This record gives sequence, C-alpha cells and structure tokens, in this order.
Amino acid sequence: MLHSRTPSLSVARTYSPLPVTLASGQGAWVTDVDGRRYLDFLAAYSAVNFGHSHPRLVAAATAQLQRITLTSRAFDNDRLGPFAEALASLARKDLVLPMNTGAEAVESAIKVARAWGYRRKGVPAGTATIVVASGNFHGRTTTIVSFSDDPGTHDDFGPYTPGFRIVPYGDIRALRTAVDDSTVAVLLEPIQGEAGVIVPPPDYLPAVRALCDERRVLFVADEVQSGLGRTGTTFACDLVGVVPDLYVLGKALGGGIVPVSAVVGNEDVLGVLRPGEHGSTFGGNPLAAAVGLEVVRMLASGEFQARSRELGEHLHERLRALVGQGLLAVRGAGLWAGVDVDPSVGTGRAVCEALLARGVLAKDTHGSTIRLAPPLVVERHEIDRAVDALEDVLTR
Ligand SMILES: *Cc1c(COP(=O)(O)O)cnc(C)c1O
Repeated sequence: MLHSRTPSLSVARTYSPLPVTLASGQGAWVTDVDGRRYLDFLAAYSAVNFGHSHPRLVAAATAQLQRITLTSRAFDNDRLGPFAEALASLARKDLVLPMNTGAEAVESAIKVARAWGYRRKGVPAGTATIVVASGNFHGRTTTIVSFSDDPGTHDDFGPYTPGFRIVPYGDIRALRTAVDDSTVAVLLEPIQGEAGVIVPPPDYLPAVRALCDERRVLFVADEVQSGLGRTGTTFACDLVGVVPDLYVLGKALGGGIVPVSAVVGNEDVLGVLRPGEHGSTFGGNPLAAAVGLEVVRMLASGEFQARSRELGEHLHERLRALVGQGLLAVRGAGLWAGVDVDPSVGTGRAVCEALLARGVLAKDTHGSTIRLAPPLVVERHEIDRAVDALEDVLTR
C-alpha cells in the first residue's frame, strides 16, 4: 500500500495541517499511516458529530450507493422527499432547500433574504442590506468573504459584494442602530465557532429576535457548526428558546460522509424562490439525502443531544479546573469548548502539537485559542484522557 507521511507538494498550500497523516477512523478515534491512534477532538469542525464510520450512517450510505446516487433535480428522487420531511419536522419548519456545502447554504440564504425583501417587504430593487457580526465565519466564497473582518479570510479577494453591514457581536444596541428600512436580514452564528466558540450574552439572541420582529427583518441563524447536537440541543438557538426565520445547516448534516447542507424555513420566506431561480447539480442527490435522512433520524431520538449536554458538563467542569493552571478562559456549550491558553505557556499551535504527541487531535482557531469538539459518541473516560493530556501540556 502506498503510504504518504508528509503532505504532498502537489496540494495547494491553503492549510497548514498538524504533522499527522490519517488513514482510518472509528468513533472518536483516528489512526495514522504508522498505526498510531489519536482521540479526535476536532471532529472535522463538527462535521463528524456522530463519530467516524458510524454503523447506521455507513449502512445508509452503502445501501444507497448500490441503488442510485445522482439524478439531478431535473427529476425527483425517492430519498429527497423523506429527507426534507424529516428535517423540516426536526426544525419545526415547512420547507427545506438542499445544497451541499455550508458556504453554499449561506449564499442560498442570502439570495432568499434578498428576494423576500424585494418581493414581500417591498424594499426598492437592488438596495437590500444584511447585517452581520464582527468575528463572523460563514464560509469562503467571494460574497461571504466580502463581509468577513478577518484579514486572512478577506484581504486581497475584492472587489467585494456590497449590501452588508458589520456590527460588534453580542451588542444589541449596535445592531438596532444598523437596522433600517433597507434591511432584509440579520445573519448570525448563535455561537461563533471559528472566532473561538464565542457565546453571546444570554439575552442577546432573544433581543435579536424581538428586533427582527419589530423591524420586519429575517433572523437567519448560521447553525452550520453549532447545530445538530453540538451544544447539547438540536440547535444552539434552542439554548435560549429562540426560533430564527431561517436555519442554515451543513457540516454534521452529511454525517461526515458526504457534503450535505440546507436552508430550512417556512413557506412565507423560503417559498419566495420560484423554479429556475436557484439550484445545484448535486444538491438533494439521493446519496446525500439518504445519509441526511439517517442523520435526522438519529437526532430525532434526542440521545445525541442528551450525551452532548451531559458529557459537555463534565468536559466544561474539567476544563474550568484548568483556569489559572495554563488556561485563561473556557467558553462553550455541550461538547463544544473554546479555551484560551495562557500565552506564557505557548501558542495555540504549539499546544496542539504537544497534544498530538500525546495522542489527542485538536486545532487552534486564532492565536492562543483552541477549539475542542469531540464526536458526540465520545465516552467519559476518553474526555478524561484528552483533558489529562491537555493538563500535562499546560503544567509540564
Ligand atoms: C464551516 C462553516 C461554514 C462553511 O461551511 P463549508 O462547508 O466549509 O462551506 C459556514 N458557516 C459556519 C458557521 C461554519 O462553521
């Protein structure tokens, strides 16, 4: 078998991966080309919420592989309807717009919000604005990077798409000032993942919901990373009892097997798009829909959300004990944590390399912040093992 131990020189250098080459995975564990095992505390940025090679998801994908995988939306397929019905029911909404990647789903929500603004709200053609938050991460397409305030994501990729206003995240007053008659949507992550698992003040999202109702603006929640069990609830918005107009979903929706994303909303909003106005060759394909349906069925029982909630309490309790012992702060919800490493201990990158040497995979987000997001199938003793490794790195 051909084993590759260093990243190929033929791969464009848009990432700087940790020095490990993975070859297989099972549950919360992955194995490298030399047979070394690691606990996966990144879970592909929450795309692997159900662990690697979950038997139910592998079975659903394998069965579908042998039937039919792609029809295009020129024809209906027998998996799309059941997937859409199950996902709409999970989200308590009417309609599902299937796409593939998270960025595509965000782009789709932007198109829906603009069309809704012109056709329903009566915003003059070509003038719609969407308010977004500082520190946002919504993907890598040209329109989305236009409203990023992270230089590495944004700079040198202009000219930029107009129609976006950036306000400080978590600041309802700033949001109130930015919303005017041209505003069609507020687009937010209910917890900001890439920014370092930033949890807004508890009254923020309810106030955003109230402001959007008052000003007749859509509340679009980008739950691509925060959704589908990660925070101990189906959606992060559930933590504060808020229901957005549109959910943007991705990552875990594809079970870590295929890219599956979706915009989910009610008829009065998502129904504005007419045949021919939006589409995707692969969106809603039978393989994606079969896997997505199994993902939704798994979430419908609530068992993964419960695991995330209960084990998340344990994870956070253990991490909080390290504040003052090499950690400056711990944030998050469920099995999702952002930890700020004391810079005197080392950079986030250096800590992740030391964790790698101890058999734990994690990834720094910005500077000295590390995100911990194990698959929701992780066991309590595996959490202890990973936190023990972190403690060893921080206090050695
Ligand atoms: C990862 C992510 C995206 C982009 O998803 P891709 O599948 O990488 O395009 C969008 N929004 C949020 C909140 C994300 O975390």
